[in-house]
Amino acid sequence: MNFQLTPEQTEFRGAVARFADKHLRAGARERAHDPKYPWDVAKLMAEQGLLGITLKEEDGGQGGSLMDAVLAIEAVAAACPRSADVIQAGSFGPVRVFAEYGTPMQKERYLTHILKGEGVISVGMTEPEAGSAVTDLRSAVTPDGDGYRLNGSKVFSTHAPYADVLLVYCRFGPGVGGIGSVLVDTKAEGVKFGQHSTFMSGEEWAQIYFDNVWVPPEMVVLKEGGFKKQIAGFNVERIGNTSRSLALGRYAYEEARQWAMQRKQFGRLLCEFQGLQWKFAEMKMKLDAGQLLLYRAASNADGGIPSAQDTAIAKAFCNQAGFDIANEALQVMGGMGYSQESLVEYCLRRCRGWMIAGGSLEILKNRIAEGVFDRTFSQRPG
Ligand SMILES: Cc1cc2nc3c(=O)[nH]c(=O)nc-3n(C[C@H](O)[C@H](O)[C@H](O)COP(=O)(O)OP(=O)(O)OC[C@H]3O[C@@H](n4cnc5c(N)ncnc54)[C@H](O)[C@@H]3O)c2cc1C
Repeated sequence: MNFQLTPEQTEFRGAVARFADKHLRAGARERAHDPKYPWDVAKLMAEQGLLGITLKEEDGGQGGSLMDAVLAIEAVAAACPRSADVIQAGSFGPVRVFAEYGTPMQKERYLTHILKGEGVISVGMTEPEAGSAVTDLRSAVTPDGDGYRLNGSKVFSTHAPYADVLLVYCRFGPGVGGIGSVLVDTKAEGVKFGQHSTFMSGEEWAQIYFDNVWVPPEMVVLKEGGFKKQIAGFNVERIGNTSRSLALGRYAYEEARQWAMQRKQFGRLLCEFQGLQWKFAEMKMKLDAGQLLLYRAASNADGGIPSAQDTAIAKAFCNQAGFDIANEALQVMGGMGYSQESLVEYCLRRCRGWMIAGGSLEILKNRIAEGVFDRTFSQRPG
């Protein structure tokens, strides 16, 4: 087994870290508390070739590996946790599924703009009555002329309030086999946003309503039968979520480590108290274990798409680890950790959300258990 990065990967990570230090470290606190998307960072990253890391060169991407994109998240988050979201949006999220299955026309229309750092795509899977049971989704298209009419509603879609385009999971017919996806311009007639609300992380979301929205045939991404492909692609999104959980946990750990080496109580440095040393030992063990699981899932990705099982294990572990580490780091820093003076409380709030988003801890553990027993367990009654 080789646990070493290649010389190219080491060089790439170093270059991204230098970029993040120079351009992102100052202003990290303001960015974390600003609910708006950091468009200035997106444009800067586009110029630097940090958007579309995992996308093919013919699609305007960098042709890099999933592992490269994980390294970029780590290096960026170490300087500015909030800016890691831009790497996610440019290389892991719905943009990756779209690049995999979108048509050349669709890509020309939307991808070019996104990869310039001037737009984002948002994915609408979750509905008020279909959360973990996402295949219960009701948003549906019905044929109309050579296209379709879309009716339904979505909740919690990241970036939706300012996205150009939505990748909407919808029904072409009954059952899991009837699910596919279409692209919907956020300015299209019949698309309405409800009242904006705010997650604990500070991110905004709004319920989206589709009222007889016209979907021309060229806006269909995957017709019925597309669900399995979309979910396979969604494992890439999960790796980005996993990477950020661990990276923000590491950010909080590093802040607390520095604090413990300079803060004195009872005439001694905090790092000299064994009760706190053991917290750091636990944090370090979780960081290292999580990194191995994350790197296994990312580096074994086949054609850029990681295995569902490796991804579920890495995500469940790192989501929990990121949150636990941020929580312990906050404790070590006392009142200062709980204050917005540092970004530790921000890291804690962000990590909490990833235990729900992109497949909750419980749903991931259901998936892992299926691997353990090599059989499926229906979650439905009867
Ligand atoms: C920060 C954030 C970002 C998000 N971004 C997006 C996005 O971009 N696009 C999008 O479509 N959605 C997004 N979501 C929605 C997310 O995918 C859902 O919140 C998630 O799937 C859970 O659905 P729910 O909230 O309806 O909870 P529910 O499904 O109602 O679950 C409630 C609780 O019950 C547990 N539970 C449910 N079923 C089982 C079971 N069978 N076994 C054990 N436990 C179970 C869950 O784990 C959870 O703890 C986001 C959510 C968050 C918090």
